[in-house]
Amino acid sequence: MKLITQIAEMHEFVDACRTKKETVGLVPTMGFLHQGHISLMERAIRENDKTIVTIFVNPLQFAEGEDLSSYPRDLEQDTSQCEATGVDLLFTPSPEEMYSQPILTAVHIDSMTSNMEGASRPTHFSGVATVVAKLFNIAGPCSAYFGEKDWQQLQIITKMAHDLSFRVNVYGCPTVRHSDGLALSSRNAYLTPEERTSATVLSRSLQKASETVQAGETTASAIRAQIDDQIATEPLVELDYVEIVEGNTLNSIDQISQGSRILVAAKIGKARLIDNVDPYCGIT
Ligand code: AMP
Repeated sequence: MKLITQIAEMHEFVDACRTKKETVGLVPTMGFLHQGHISLMERAIRENDKTIVTIFVNPLQFAEGEDLSSYPRDLEQDTSQCEATGVDLLFTPSPEEMYSQPILTAVHIDSMTSNMEGASRPTHFSGVATVVAKLFNIAGPCSAYFGEKDWQQLQIITKMAHDLSFRVNVYGCPTVRHSDGLALSSRNAYLTPEERTSATVLSRSLQKASETVQAGETTASAIRAQIDDQIATEPLVELDYVEIVEGNTLNSIDQISQGSRILVAAKIGKARLIDNVDPYCGIT
């Protein structure tokens, strides 16, 4: 595996791929890799001739007071995991390499960024879209893999790639979970053992809501209330939102049907965790 930090080296690599007519898979991450990230890499490796993983804790997507400085990092362990998985190139740029000062250009996506994570973190998605647009430009035509765990992010990136005509196929990959249902997340590292136990209420409430929907209750407000009530039974969990939306547009809906998505976010100790489900599939 090649380990690089410079954008120019990325260009060299992807130019060589194109000369050899090799397809490129791209997996953007913030590192502190876990099985969720690995599942994206495995798919990229299966579907492409060459796979690039990027690790960059993107300052633009953290607001003042968020966990930019404490975000967990372990480049040595991440490098071994990428190597063991069969990644061809690991790109770990510095903030200075990615952003020459002053930063005057940003990507803004309307409406889809204003609810849920966007309401709680107003500058977050512009930061995400800007860095992903840069990575798409640096990598050039490729297939890029993102987790359904960050459902809103996946839809926004899909829309951005389409709106701005990036030559990138964006693929969503299923959420990888612990055996008790908690979605894997680098931020789970912040949880104390007690908080870790309470955190399963997110996936438990989404699973129970899915069962209720499948039993015939499709009124969004009733499902939202059921999730609210279940989360309220865990005193360590401070609910941020429960939203029921049309899966692709992220518009709020009153009646649940095929294609709907239920999303939750909660603060648990130092961690802010998110999860979501297709109510007709449930937590898998
Ligand atoms: P992050 O490092 O948190 O920015 O995540 C990098 C990519 O991994 C994003 O596309 C996430 O959606 C994805 N990801 C994070 N956690 C999971 C998970 N538990 N299952 C599947 N994909 C995930």
